[in-house]
Amino acid sequence: MAGVRIDLTRVEERLAELAALHPLDGLGSCRLALTDDDRAGRDLLITWMGDLGLDVGIDAIGNIVGRWSAGADEPDLPPVMTGSHLDTVATGGRFDGALGVVAGLEVIEALAASGARTRRPVAVAAFTNEEGSRFAPDMMGSLVYVGGLALEVALDTVGIDGARVGHELDRIGYRGARPVPGPAPHAFVELHIEQGPVLEHEGVTIGAVTGVQGISWQELVVTGQSNHAGTTPMALRRDAGHAAVAIAAGVRELVSVVGGRQVGTVGRLHLEPNLVNVVAGRATMTVDLRNIDEAALREAEKRLSELVTEVAATERVEIASRSLARFEPVEFDERIVSLVESTATGRGLTSRRLASGAGHDAQMMARVCPTGMIFVPSRQGISHNPAEFTEPGHLRAGVEVLADVISTLAADPDPGPGRAGAR
Ligand SMILES: [Zn+2]
Repeated sequence: MAGVRIDLTRVEERLAELAALHPLDGLGSCRLALTDDDRAGRDLLITWMGDLGLDVGIDAIGNIVGRWSAGADEPDLPPVMTGSHLDTVATGGRFDGALGVVAGLEVIEALAASGARTRRPVAVAAFTNEEGSRFAPDMMGSLVYVGGLALEVALDTVGIDGARVGHELDRIGYRGARPVPGPAPHAFVELHIEQGPVLEHEGVTIGAVTGVQGISWQELVVTGQSNHAGTTPMALRRDAGHAAVAIAAGVRELVSVVGGRQVGTVGRLHLEPNLVNVVAGRATMTVDLRNIDEAALREAEKRLSELVTEVAATERVEIASRSLARFEPVEFDERIVSLVESTATGRGLTSRRLASGAGHDAQMMARVCPTGMIFVPSRQGISHNPAEFTEPGHLRAGVEVLADVISTLAADPDPGPGRAGAR
């Protein structure tokens, strides 16, 4: 049953309503995970789900799942699930994450309005703390949902502001009763903005996402000796700032040596005491390494470790490293990837296959059910930025393809061809 008609205005209005909770310049928005802003976004979602008559459940890590069974001929079957996240980075846009959640609501609303019957129920999820900006690791809610991270460990996680996940969940009233790990859906499909320039550059509307890059996040703490900037001879310094910058430069170099699709970023660097006339005694920094190829990613990690050892010896500083997140590359279900392509073609839309450079909740769901993702273009590839923008026509295309893909999967016989791809 293809050709679901969606209401683009409703989608845009809901995205605007979410963004208006804590607006930033332009179209931007800030909803850091488990803050009052995040709570306000969650409250809106709960209201929308209630208006739609969904069966709403909140689990022990705060994931919100709304299930629509009213149109299902076999309401007790595992649902086809869609969704994404409502949290943003501190300088977020209005589409990253929110689009996937709002689109899921829209698909259900459109199906309900058309009087459509599906075989299976359809569910829409908003996962807790996907961004990882306040609490590491990122994709925390979906990881706990699939049993990849113990609930107690997640609840005990301390954020960059000293807050604890469990405490913040209680504070905003979103520590739910549903147990984790949660039940595996029949399939999971997430609509998301590309957050990269490929689709726009090639003039293609729909990305059929084949998988997600592996991610390795490390935090390095460099300890040297804080001292007077004028009286300390260069040869006697143990300069944590200099060591940190040498590592940052070395990361750029090792990325080019590993080559291929390797990327590397030093995104956070904090010096102490951070004063103009004092040699830094301490530096805290992060290194983000990603690759679609696991062996190459390991090579990059090995080279980083060698670099750190070398810099520590040269500058006579101590460097402690700690893993903040480590995920292997993920391949999505071939049948769903093809289904996204053929659905786009059926709608008269251009499409291409591509791998995701960013992490997504879908990569966690891929551990428990056949999974895929749909990308729509990001203007100039910009995201994690208030300037993030996706054209209305592309939003419409993405939600329509999502609706058709969900309709098709919801009609699957039992156990369903998609099950062949289950891991
Ligand atoms: Zn996202």
